Order: sequence, then structure tokens, then C-alpha cells
Amino acid sequence: MHILVTNDDGVQAPGLLALAQAMRQIGKVTIFAPDRNWSASGHVKTMDRPLRVHEVTLADGSPALATDGAPSDSVALALLGVVKEKIDLVVSGINPHENIGHDVTYSGTVTAAMEAVIGGLPGIAVSLHSPEDFHGALDYSTAAQVARRVAEKVLAEGLPERVLLNVNVPYLKENELKGFLVTRQGLRLYRDALDARKDPRGKPYYWIGGEFPIGVDEEGTDYGALKAGYVSITPLQLDLTARQAMEGMKKWEW
Ligand code: MN
Repeated sequence: MHILVTNDDGVQAPGLLALAQAMRQIGKVTIFAPDRNWSASGHVKTMDRPLRVHEVTLADGSPALATDGAPSDSVALALLGVVKEKIDLVVSGINPHENIGHDVTYSGTVTAAMEAVIGGLPGIAVSLHSPEDFHGALDYSTAAQVARRVAEKVLAEGLPERVLLNVNVPYLKENELKGFLVTRQGLRLYRDALDARKDPRGKPYYWIGGEFPIGVDEEGTDYGALKAGYVSITPLQLDLTARQAMEGMKKWEW
């Protein structure tokens, strides 16, 4: 079993190392990730510049590949042949913050797993629902063991074609977890606010600021599961067609 481990926080992020160490309990691991933070970069295919790949060493001495491309570029490069040995599974994370609801198309963590699906492989994105006001080193141990269990399940059961898993883990000890719930995407409430300023030359510039987004705590959803202390496992697909809108729209006079 050969598992590609990637992330969107950069190759030296502690969440990536925790994930790689957990995946090594299942099979051979190749680490291939961006050389810097690409959080909230969305699903990227870099086409206007060359991509470089270099070897780096992680904090535990693990060899890894780093690229100046995006998370999805890392996966694409690996699957297109930069990694010679056949890959069976792509796992992305562990992101230090949850990726729920509408986050999924912003998230580099999730879009790396989407790229796996495009390459014909199962993909798993793993994110930690850490406390919003947390400072210091996060404990990734529960999320890493959850990732291992989910990966083992995926390898044993097989995912339906073109499906990836978006896994979110509560910030709890392993024995405090209530269990695993298969969920649907919930609703995210963004609290973005425009921060308009002037540079030293008097020209305007903007930050998209505001407060951290919140989730709608609804049963059956990703955020509902997290709030209740469960691991949330949401199967996602790249087919975003709003099927319920089709019938009505077909009746419009075109
Ligand atoms: Mn991130």
C-alpha cells in the first residue's frame, strides 16, 4: 500500500508530520506538499509558470518532496509521474482548522483530495476542529489516529468512484470521541468584513477581514457532528450540479 500524504499548510507543518506518521502504520508513505502555506487557495492548476520540486527533511528526519505549486499541483505532479511508484491513496492534512460547509471549495486541504479523485484515486481530507482562540502547539494525535482508521476503512471497503471524504475531527482526546458520523455538508456563516486602508503613497488597498466564520449547528451535518463530539465524515463529489433546480429551469422558455 502506497499512500501520498499532502497538505495546504506547507511541508513543515506539524499536522502533516502527524498524518505521515499515522499513515506509516498502514503502508509506505510519500510526502509531497507545497513549500509554503496555501490555506484557502482553492482548487488550483498552475499553468502559467514552471513548477519546481525539491527534497526536504521534516522534523523527525523523514524525507519529503516540496513544490512551489499549490496543494492540488502537488497531487497532480505526483500522479503524473514525479513520484515513480504507483500510488493507492491520497490523504491531505491535518489542517489545524475545520473545513465544513462552504469551506470545501476554498480549502487547499480538501481540493488536494479533489485532485486525487480527478486522478482516479481515493482521496481523504482531514481537518481538526481546534478551538478558535487556541495558542501554542496543537495536539494532532487524535486526528492522526482517526485519519488512520478512516484510511484503513477506505482501503478495506473501497470508496465509490469519484468520491472523496472530507473528515473533520473534534479537538478531544481519542477516548472522549463519541464516535464516527457520516454527514452532509452543513452551512457556514462567513463574517467577512472589508478593511479598506491607504498605503504610504495614498493609494487604497483592501483586506478581507472580519471574524472567524461560524457553523450552523444542525443535526446530520458536518458541524452538527463536531459540536456533538463526533468525527464527521462527509462524502463529497465534484459534480456540483444543483439537480433540484434542473426540472423547474427546463420549463423556462429558452
Ligand atoms: Mn490550511
